[in-house]
Parts: sequence; structure tokens; C-alpha cells
Amino acid sequence: MILDNALRLQYLDAMGIDVWVPRASVQNEQNQPAEAGAVMDNAEPETTASASNNWDELQAEVANCTKCALCKTRTQTVFGSGNKRADWMLVGEAPGQHEDEQGLPFVGNAGLLLTEMLRAIGLSREEVFITNILKCRPPNNRDPLAGEVESCNEYLQQQQKLIQPKIILAVGRIAAQTLLKTDESLARLRGKVHTLNNTPVVVVYHPAYLLRSLPEKRKAWLDLQLSIQTVRDSEG
Ligand code: URA
Repeated sequence: MILDNALRLQYLDAMGIDVWVPRASVQNEQNQPAEAGAVMDNAEPETTASASNNWDELQAEVANCTKCALCKTRTQTVFGSGNKRADWMLVGEAPGQHEDEQGLPFVGNAGLLLTEMLRAIGLSREEVFITNILKCRPPNNRDPLAGEVESCNEYLQQQQKLIQPKIILAVGRIAAQTLLKTDESLARLRGKVHTLNNTPVVVVYHPAYLLRSLPEKRKAWLDLQLSIQTVRDSEG
């Protein structure tokens, strides 16, 4: 997903981010990036055949899921997109209308800003893996119900196990509270490194919130800096 350059600059400016495009991303674009929605293998070969089989099975299982009532109202499931060997795994709340229609996560306006946030730290959507707590859209984008989260939890756990990311970004309050099993406010959760199944978790503002709340833009940048530092630390 490549934005018109003027719009990109507007988004970055809204976030208070100076324009900085790393050489690697520029080259990547010139070499024609893969389609945004595709689930990509990165350059590394599969370590085991069964990891891939499990991934395909998991994807099929999610596509046919009828564990909760959202299966009756969804257009389709939204499994996630990106690199299934990603170092960075991003977890949002749930698909909205555009995601439900396209079967891909974060493709509306919030998604465009998320793409720019990633780009600002030198990452493309194709390099990371983006998914949600819920794989189906709740009607009228209401908050996920506890039973829906419970039904979907196994899929997210399985995705984390197969991807083995170096960091998980919990995108927004609901994703953060659900992943970390807490009622604490986003303000209290951000700015720290949490853990989930031995993987560091950093809480970042939801891009939809950032689009409405420009005063938080600088803090959003700090969240991204903390995320980069956390990955560096994990690499020793
Ligand atoms: N908001 C989310 O949390 N996830 C999406 O996929 C889209 C919007």
C-alpha cells in the first residue's frame, strides 16, 4: 500500500515525525514490493515443513471458524497479513468495515497511518506481521465481547507460536488490555516493556486515536523508539 507522497507527508507531519526514509525501504520500493495483503515468506528457508503446514491449517481453520456469533455477520475472516517469519508482530483490536470487506487488517485510514508509522522506523508492511485480537468484525465496530476474545485467543496464540516474533506491538487500548489481561489505562501501559509468552510487548497508541488526537503525536513517536530499542536489546 503506497500513499500519494503529499498525503504521506501530511500523515508524518501530523505525527510530528520528520521525514526520514531509510535507504533500504527506498530500494525495496524500487524493486516492486509484494502485494500488501499477501502472507509472505522472508528470505529465510522454512525451518520445518510442519511449521508451514500448521500455518496453512491455522489459516484454513480461521477462515471456517464458527466458534462465536460473529461468523454470522462477517463478510469474511481477517487472518492477518505480512511476513510469517516476522521479527515484529502487530496486534490490533478487530477488523472494521474495510478490513471485513477486503479480508486484510488495517486497510482503512488508521491502516494508512499505521503503514506510515512503520515506514518512519524503516519497516514495510511486508516485513512485519499484522493481525488483530478478533479475526471477525464486530457489528458496528463495537468493542469485542469477552466470549469473542476467548474464542479467538487460541488463533492469536498459535500465530505467535509459529511466527516467534522478537516483539509484539499491542496497537491501542483494547489490544493492550486484552493481551496483557489487565484493566489498566493505556497511559499506564505505554512506555514500558511487558511480556507475553516470553516475548516483549510494547503498547502503542492506536492510529485511529492518533488521527483524532494530535497532541499525542510526540508520545507515539516515543513508543516507536522504545519498540526499536526493545528489538535491539533482544538481539543483544
Ligand atoms: N482497527 C484495528 O484495530 N484493526 C484493524 O484491522 C483495523 C482497524
